[in-house]
Amino acid sequence: MHIPGNPPGSGLERVLLDKRSGFYAVLGTEPPEPVKIPLIDDGRLSESVPKNTSSRYCPECLASGFGWSTLWQQPWTFACPHHHIALIATCPSCGQRPWSSSSWGGRLAGQACCTEREPRPKGGTSQRSIRPWCNGNLGDAAQIPVHDAALHAQQRLLVLVDAAHRDPGGPRSLGPWSATASQHLHTFCALLRLSVAQARSASSWADHLARASAAFDDLNQTDGSGPTINLMLSDHQTTGLLGPRSQALRSDLGPILVAAGIRNIASAIPPSSRLTFRTARAWAAHPPEWTSPRDHGQHILQEHQTEPLLPPASWVPQSLWTIALRAHDVQEDDGPVLSMILLRLGRTTPWSHIALELGLPATFQRSAGTRLRSLHHHRWPNVLQDMEDLFTQLRQAPPPINYSARRRAAHSVAELAKVVGAHRDDDLAGLRRFWEVFTGGDIRLAPHPLGTPGGTSAHLEHVAQRQHLDDAHDVLFRQYHERLIGHHGNTVDGPLTWTPP
Ligand SMILES: [Zn+2]
Ligand SMILES: [Zn+2]
Repeated sequence: MHIPGNPPGSGLERVLLDKRSGFYAVLGTEPPEPVKIPLIDDGRLSESVPKNTSSRYCPECLASGFGWSTLWQQPWTFACPHHHIALIATCPSCGQRPWSSSSWGGRLAGQACCTEREPRPKGGTSQRSIRPWCNGNLGDAAQIPVHDAALHAQQRLLVLVDAAHRDPGGPRSLGPWSATASQHLHTFCALLRLSVAQARSASSWADHLARASAAFDDLNQTDGSGPTINLMLSDHQTTGLLGPRSQALRSDLGPILVAAGIRNIASAIPPSSRLTFRTARAWAAHPPEWTSPRDHGQHILQEHQTEPLLPPASWVPQSLWTIALRAHDVQEDDGPVLSMILLRLGRTTPWSHIALELGLPATFQRSAGTRLRSLHHHRWPNVLQDMEDLFTQLRQAPPPINYSARRRAAHSVAELAKVVGAHRDDDLAGLRRFWEVFTGGDIRLAPHPLGTPGGTSAHLEHVAQRQHLDDAHDVLFRQYHERLIGHHGNTVDGPLTWTPP
């Protein structure tokens, strides 16, 4: 069901239509029938009352001779901003909802006079007779005070609904975030839902609104945080921030709350999760695969709308260019682990799949875990920042090499040797070096029989001979490359080797 006047996708319906939210208990009414209701409108109701649509009212407004306000029909208003009292849904005399039947049509009566006829007597037989008017005075209804914080929150909600209705994609800043008007409204509604979900004791709708509004104020600070929002987001059970995909989808917090929430807990979450949620970025986010493709834009901030969102496997060599990283204490040996880390950025893919994609042997997964832990110990925040910086740099100037295609082309050593026309046994050292240069790989992790385990004499010899092999085989390696392009096509073309500038 769509509530009139409510921008689709704002999440407001989910708040209003959820029986558990206690919204009906407060309003004493159901959402109005789908009719066109103008948004914020200070004009009085006069003849524009839609038929068969009840309206709540402010007893004091009617008693003082003000007319009926369209504001009272908005499903999310519950209090009169002029008199600071709750809107009332029913007549104090007959208990029926004003304007709920069409009997008022053509009747001339005072503003505060009940619009209904007296209720049908129970068990009565004279069904065809016309019942008398109730004539109850709506101005006599109970006056229930509403606190200022709730009124302020109601006003904020009205303004947010109005802005999102007029221009859903309109740019709006909220604290440090740049977002849209629609995301603003969505954030407020998500805060309302959170408040309802987290309520330990019976809270009134007014309390929930006031709490959501206080949290919204916190988000609107320069640093986007404050006591109310921090407390609300620290309850992982109800936020579902780090939970599995299904839970995150259900919680539907929107990008601003996710960014604020993950940042709050970033230093306490495991290294892999920090990669998944990209805590080193200006604003953390759920991985793209967690958000439904239908409303993708709803789930990412403008800051995140970069292309591509994730580092593609084709950009990542098996052994990352360690010289391109700022953290100077990384060693060349860390290349494969760093490649895995770069490829894991913003993903939930298991490490084993990442290792497979990079052509790393299955056994590498175990040592990768150890490596990750040692990196985590001292340097993890720096490594994460380095990865974000490198990814930003690569987005501006993508590698001219498709590393995935090259890994596939060189996956079988026998096939590789055949295509390039090398004699595997005669020039094993040369083929090793060519494989390393062509794929961006690490010879310790090359397929058999090229691989030389680290620390062995074969490996040490290979490392010592690299420069010599490059010089001596310059022309030969280019020929190999030409033959591979001839065989596999332009997926393996580009320069023979590359490092970021
Ligand atoms: Zn009033
Ligand atoms: Zn009445």
